Amino acid sequence: MAILQILQYPDLRLRRKGYRVGNVKAAKIQKTIEDILETLRNVEHCAGLAATQLDIKDPPNITVINTADNNEPLCLINLQIISADSDVINDEGCMSVYPHDIHAKVKRAGKVKVKALDRHGNEIEFEAKDRLAQCLQHEHDHLQGILYIDRLEKSERLLLDKRIAELTAPAKKIQNIL
Ligand SMILES: [Zn+2]
Repeated sequence: MAILQILQYPDLRLRRKGYRVGNVKAAKIQKTIEDILETLRNVEHCAGLAATQLDIKDPPNITVINTADNNEPLCLINLQIISADSDVINDEGCMSVYPHDIHAKVKRAGKVKVKALDRHGNEIEFEAKDRLAQCLQHEHDHLQGILYIDRLEKSERLLLDKRIAELTAPAKKIQNIL
């Protein structure tokens, strides 16, 4: 197992789409799942991770999500949202949008129905609402190369980009000196 690097916006690799997994039981896929789970365990306050936001060459369509209960994280492969309704607006942040206390209000469906494969290749289908529904849509977006900041109004996005640039600028200056 390995802890993978979480890519940071504006890294263009965040724009990749996860490829559809054919054989879930393939050693390469199972290792990728283990690595993503290990990475999730090692990041504090991390709700979920998608393969496309990690330093993985040619990432597959895999995401892991911490659920509110204390069960093992959900592992979803080839994630599809088959229905979505009732819009809600909630605060959202992302491990790939530095610094991680940056967040914004994003409009999402309050309830979704999803379909995916579990890590053993079994087809699963379930409904989710509230925080889990938000998380599923956030990770589904990652797997299509979309970030939550792409869903903001243009003016909000400009403000957020400016704030990110300001907050990350001192670190960059230090790096240049070194
Ligand atoms: Zn994210």
